[in-house]
Amino acid sequence: MIILIKKDAEESQVENLLGLLKSKHIEPMVSRGALQTVIGCVGDVAELDPGVIEALDVVESVQRIQEPYKAANRKFHPDPTTVDCSGVKIGGGAFAVIAGPCSVESEEQIISVARSVKASGATMLRGGAFKPRTSPYSFQGLGRRGLEMLSAAKKETGLPVVTELMDFADIELFNDVDVIQIGARNMQNFNLLKEVGSYTKKPILLKRGMCATLQELLMSAEYIMASGNPNVILCERGIRTYETAMRNTLDLGVVPVLRRLTHLPVVVDPSHATGYAYLVDPVGVAAAAIGADGLIIEVHNDPPKAKCDGAQSQTPAMFDAMMKRVRRVREALSAPCV
Ligand code: PEP
Ligand code: MN
Repeated sequence: MIILIKKDAEESQVENLLGLLKSKHIEPMVSRGALQTVIGCVGDVAELDPGVIEALDVVESVQRIQEPYKAANRKFHPDPTTVDCSGVKIGGGAFAVIAGPCSVESEEQIISVARSVKASGATMLRGGAFKPRTSPYSFQGLGRRGLEMLSAAKKETGLPVVTELMDFADIELFNDVDVIQIGARNMQNFNLLKEVGSYTKKPILLKRGMCATLQELLMSAEYIMASGNPNVILCERGIRTYETAMRNTLDLGVVPVLRRLTHLPVVVDPSHATGYAYLVDPVGVAAAAIGADGLIIEVHNDPPKAKCDGAQSQTPAMFDAMMKRVRRVREALSAPCV
């Protein structure tokens, strides 16, 4: 249920209403927008009589929310959310570019990639330390040592770090990580979502599962938010279809669809979506044009030698060329530049 507050309502009236809701064991979510204050009610709203609430002086109208996701719903929070990633903002007009290798391979590698992507305009550094690989015989990531190397690259460049958490048992190793990635394969690991959401308010980059609908993606965001962490960034990285020409199938239409359904920022990952480095530039530029709040791009110093995802990794020079086009597109759309 959402309660729209009258424009001329006094703060004390709003406070009284919040008190009434809390007395009915409802945790109200208040969104004070430029045009309207909205109170979202989640939990057991059965005790709330919409007619009684609507009759209150301070209330303009009451709406039932049909969708199963509440906290993530745009109706609950009409203004877009800006997530602060250790000073780098994303969403609500702020565009962020996360770049770096699929996996951290050595300290020299991650520092050199971090320096070059920063020079090209990246605002955050990515790099996997714990890797969810299809084969148990493939490189599994450097684990704790990989996280230490990411910290060294962060110290060197000042770029906030984004890296994947696969197992909640490792969470204490993530103290110096700025954004925790939950990967596609764990999007519906509900225990992990609940544990992370209740442990930290650090931003969570939640990637769409390869067979997940948008509603399922939003329900996974809802798990994190309902556990106490409102700082969720959604990531579209393509889904599995019958098409085999690319690694996954990317429908960029989901960006404006999600914009309508949710207030959360939406990032596009053209690297995993396409699987080929030559496609990352055109698809990444298109994602910026369609209104994504950011990009996450795999960049490797020597892609043929990469331990993971070399075929889709851009060289630093390719990334630099793409960033120039991304900036031009953002300028053409009069959106703030990276
Ligand atoms: C990754 O970001 O390297 C990754 C494994 O992504 P996804 O979960 O989208 O496959
Ligand atoms: Mn990868």
